[in-house]
Amino acid sequence: MTDKELYFEAVKAMENSYSPYSSCKVGAALLTKSGKLFTGTNIENAAFGPTVCAERVAVFKAVSEGERDFFKIAVVGGKNGEINGIFAPCGVCRQVLREFCSDDFEILLGETKDNFKKVTLKDLLPISFSPENVQ
Ligand SMILES: [Zn+2]
Repeated sequence: MTDKELYFEAVKAMENSYSPYSSCKVGAALLTKSGKLFTGTNIENAAFGPTVCAERVAVFKAVSEGERDFFKIAVVGGKNGEINGIFAPCGVCRQVLREFCSDDFEILLGETKDNFKKVTLKDLLPISFSPENVQ
């Protein structure tokens, strides 16, 4: 799967967003090293606290299916589903990714409907706290 194909899977995942409170639609597409794809979207809740991000939905779907070796993830989002610049992963999602991914893990961040910027997990979470710290 090419980066572009992975990115378009994330764009497609935005369609299922449940975001009646923020109207921010987010999609994520996670590719495992074994070549499996797991998508996720943000799921909001009237109590706000239970809301979960698209990235974590994708990661937790994969882990619950026995996959922990991740290759890269694409993340895209926008108010009312309009992609006008990067919708970067929140701090919680960055930490969840660091649980399973190394510093050089690639993250594709949507900028427009057709274009994305490629960064690493280290770019988003420098000097991170990781599983190695507690071993
Ligand atoms: Zn998040």
